[in-house]
Amino acid sequence: MGSLLLLAAFMAGALPAGERVIAVAPVGDVPPAAVSLLLPTLRDTFGAEVVIAPAVPLPSRAYDRRRRQHLSTALLDALAQARRPGWDRLLGVADVDLFVPELNFVFGEGDPIRGVAVFSLQRLRAEGEASGRELLARRAATEAIHELGHSYGLGHCGDAHCVMWFSNSLAETDRKGTRLCAAHAVELRRLRGRR
Ligand SMILES: [Zn+2]
Ligand SMILES: [Zn+2]
Repeated sequence: MGSLLLLAAFMAGALPAGERVIAVAPVGDVPPAAVSLLLPTLRDTFGAEVVIAPAVPLPSRAYDRRRRQHLSTALLDALAQARRPGWDRLLGVADVDLFVPELNFVFGEGDPIRGVAVFSLQRLRAEGEASGRELLARRAATEAIHELGHSYGLGHCGDAHCVMWFSNSLAETDRKGTRLCAAHAVELRRLRGRR
């Protein structure tokens, strides 16, 4: 029995060398389709196996009553705890308004030290737009790639059409789209090549 348990533990943590799994977890109550729609674009961008991870509960201490927003860094803490050894990165998808103390809101946040990232769907919805679903999926992919980019160590870009451009508004998110500029594509390959 003891050895069986040991074997199971070993197998769970033992991925072949070079395997780069990106896990994507809902954080709190999130439409499942919003998570699964991200997978193909993340696979293409990062050249990684992308899997859906079990949902991570929204940490209650993340909520700021005065601001009526959730502290994105507290969501990163919860994701860092949920991260498993075989996962190169863990991305959380939330559906609450996120902030960091120095900004009114953030679309998301990425942490290269702990290898986790989070973004929220909350501010990506456009009201009254005919192509609402498609647009939401594109915006979600854009913010997911941006925050995962930060989690790999990428900084912001001066090219407004690079996904690593810092967007203050949905107009900027829509303009930049999901593509990395040539320089950032090279840097991402270099950073991901490093274990
Ligand atoms: Zn950023
Ligand atoms: Zn760039």
